[in-house]
Amino acid sequence: MRVKAALAREIGKLTIEEVELDPPKADEVLVRMRAAGVCHSDLHTYRGELRAVPPLVLGHEGAGTVEAVGENVTRVQPGDRVLINWLPACETCPTCLSGRHNLCERLPGTTFRALLLDGTSRLRTLDGLTLKHYLSVATMAEYAVIHEDSAIPIPGDVPFEVAAIIGCAVATGVGAVLNTAQARAGRPAAVIGAGGVGLSAIQGCQLVGCHPIIAVDLMESKLAFARRMGATHTVNASETDAVDALRDLTGGGPEYVFDSVGSAVTISQALGSARPGGTAVIIGLHATQIEVPISPGELVLRNKRLLGSFVGSIRPRVDLPMLVELYRAGRLQLDDMITKRYPLDDLPQAFHDMEAGTIARGVLVFGDER
Ligand SMILES: [Zn+2]
Ligand SMILES: [Zn+2]
Repeated sequence: MRVKAALAREIGKLTIEEVELDPPKADEVLVRMRAAGVCHSDLHTYRGELRAVPPLVLGHEGAGTVEAVGENVTRVQPGDRVLINWLPACETCPTCLSGRHNLCERLPGTTFRALLLDGTSRLRTLDGLTLKHYLSVATMAEYAVIHEDSAIPIPGDVPFEVAAIIGCAVATGVGAVLNTAQARAGRPAAVIGAGGVGLSAIQGCQLVGCHPIIAVDLMESKLAFARRMGATHTVNASETDAVDALRDLTGGGPEYVFDSVGSAVTISQALGSARPGGTAVIIGLHATQIEVPISPGELVLRNKRLLGSFVGSIRPRVDLPMLVELYRAGRLQLDDMITKRYPLDDLPQAFHDMEAGTIARGVLVFGDER
């Protein structure tokens, strides 16, 4: 079938065009997309800065309705509303069996290379160029063929646009607090970077009862979003020294510092500002090639923990439905996180707004239904 999609034919070349999508094979599902979150990873990918390289159809956050299923599909059926899970863990490899589904051994050879789980593709341009499926899902298209492990059913009262952001930004930010840091109530926390992931980490800190919750960013517009999401204090790191400010506001440093940026500067701010015995959690992936000097004094003499967190250390089929339920219970303010909606054709504008810091989370919407 012909579907409109956002794709990168080559590095740095973003186009919105009709492409050919083959029907689902065994274990696969055809989803009519209703919403797709706009994430920095999509931007970095079409620019060729991450592991999956063009030609591919972009998009990894999404939600929609199941239109058709291939042979052997048992978990969903046509008509189901689903959240797209771009981390389709096998749940049988030794790493999954150890509880680390986010590090599943089948993902590096398939999902992270933008292939479906059988190692192939169902997408091509009208002039015959085979297109990969970004993170096995390629949600920035009117329809997507995905493995059934990438389809998580959701209740009818969860808006598609909310479900779309739960699968990546929310899982990454809230998961870092709940799973990676296992943060405790009453302890001071800081979040560096107030984009979609940082705002989600702030909400995670609020969920577990950290206090105070301090947001750090370079842009005043993003700090305003952070206050709305539960930050009790904000620090503009373009005006003041973030480490000094965090120590002053907490009487010696936060117990937990979540770095949603992942640059050399922010990683050292996170480790440097955590109080003695505290924990710095690195969530963001600004660049994979940088080297960061780490002070053994901070780690040993001050007994700090430096932790990495990949997609919030989640087990997708356990944690994504849990996050959906926390939203339904009013414990996560996800409606407020979506500050702008765009048609698929306006993806370049959405990327522009994301980089300019004028939106909290932007979502592409397909059709009228939310
Ligand atoms: Zn994402
Ligand atoms: Zn696995």
